[in-house]
Amino acid sequence: MMLRIPSKKSSPLAYKLLIYILLSSSVITLAITSYQLYSDYQNDIGLITQRFWQIKVSYLDSLSRSVWNFNEEQYEMQLKGILSLDDVVYVALVTPKNKILAAKGEPEVEYIIKKTFPLKTEDFGKTVDAGRLVVVASLKRIYYSLFRKVFVILISQGIKTFIVSTIIILLFYFLVTKRLWTISGFAKSIDLTNDEYLKLNKGAGKDEIDLVAGAINRMKKELKGNYDKIKQMNLQLESKVAERTIELESANIKLEKLATHDSLTGIYNRRKLDDLYGKYWQHACRNESALALGMIDIDYFKHYNDTYGHGMGDTALKKIAATIKESAKRPFDVAARYGGEEFMIMLIQVDYSGFKHILERIRKNVELLAIEHKSSDVSDVVTVSIGGIFIVPGDDHVPEKNEYFRLVDNYLYEAKKGGRNRIVCAKSLSRRPVTSVYSG
Ligand code: GH3
Ligand code: MG
Ligand code: MG
Repeated sequence: MMLRIPSKKSSPLAYKLLIYILLSSSVITLAITSYQLYSDYQNDIGLITQRFWQIKVSYLDSLSRSVWNFNEEQYEMQLKGILSLDDVVYVALVTPKNKILAAKGEPEVEYIIKKTFPLKTEDFGKTVDAGRLVVVASLKRIYYSLFRKVFVILISQGIKTFIVSTIIILLFYFLVTKRLWTISGFAKSIDLTNDEYLKLNKGAGKDEIDLVAGAINRMKKELKGNYDKIKQMNLQLESKVAERTIELESANIKLEKLATHDSLTGIYNRRKLDDLYGKYWQHACRNESALALGMIDIDYFKHYNDTYGHGMGDTALKKIAATIKESAKRPFDVAARYGGEEFMIMLIQVDYSGFKHILERIRKNVELLAIEHKSSDVSDVVTVSIGGIFIVPGDDHVPEKNEYFRLVDNYLYEAKKGGRNRIVCAKSLSRRPVTSVYSG
């Protein structure tokens, strides 16, 4: 495994920790070192003071006598003895008249402590002034030793801090940073479709980060539970929606059928006919092609109802509707119930003789149904009268859309008037229709 050295960018937390450790350790080191140096300094100064006291006790009396008695050999010896003491760098005997009697060592001026001892002795019972002893002690050794200590302490503390910091940072990296990265990576790409959970390196015992990982795993488990529930609910919802859609579609088909078909006979109703008529009329106008309408009315149907009852009347209506539909069965042929006992057929892409042929077929097929009609004045069976109009709209004659309906109604009326069980039909290529009447 490659060891990544934690940097300010990769591990800001470790970096902060490092800065805090360095700062606090520097402050503490500085405080402790200062205190230690101060106490060492005090100690060294105490030693020099002790030496001065030693000079006073051991040398002063005999030195005073040597000087008073001009015993040069002796005071030279004594000065040598004083000079041999630690830190003492200069000793001098000064007469009461401020003349240097004898001196030893180098008279330094910097980093020194200078002490002057008065020399007094007894001469014939009188205390006399024999001059003074000047002793100079150097502080250089003390300062040097202090500097050396500072240097050693700083270097050793620096190395110690560096090693400890590195260990702490590495431990922090493995125990905290690395595991936090794992947690953050997991949380960033949390995927509720799988059963993967956060696994941290198993160390000895659980710590705070394991608690966080545990909490995230619990959170994912809960989210996944809810996600699965929602998914399940969605599936149920989808299947319900599909079910409802099918129901709705079949209801729509039924509704559409109800809206466009006649409930008794099952063929198109008047509304559908009107709708289709608009389209057929436009088609005929656009293509200057034929549009043919036939209006079929049952003869003496009121009498039929009165004679055979309304139920039988309905049955007869159904049979006649089916016959009409059967008689005009090309793909674009339309048969519709127009009103009570009236039907319409509407044809395109047909010629006049073909149209007349179809009208005649309807009339004949109804007759052939042989539905008994005792109270009819024209036949023993149920018959129909038909009015028809065949027109090809052209540039010279573009009639108003509803004109055909009025015309076909008129021709039906004429068929009735002419004796029933017959067809009155006209071909109109101009304003003057050519009418033909024929009956069975
Ligand atoms: P015409 O030969 O002049 O057409 O005489 P008609 O009796 O057929 O005409 P009329 O308009 O006087 O009567 C139409 C009758 O059609 C009246 C009504 O009883 C009958 N009828 C209309 N719709 C229905 C229906 O849905 N069922 C039944 N059984 N009869 C109907
Ligand atoms: Mg009628
Ligand atoms: Mg009728």
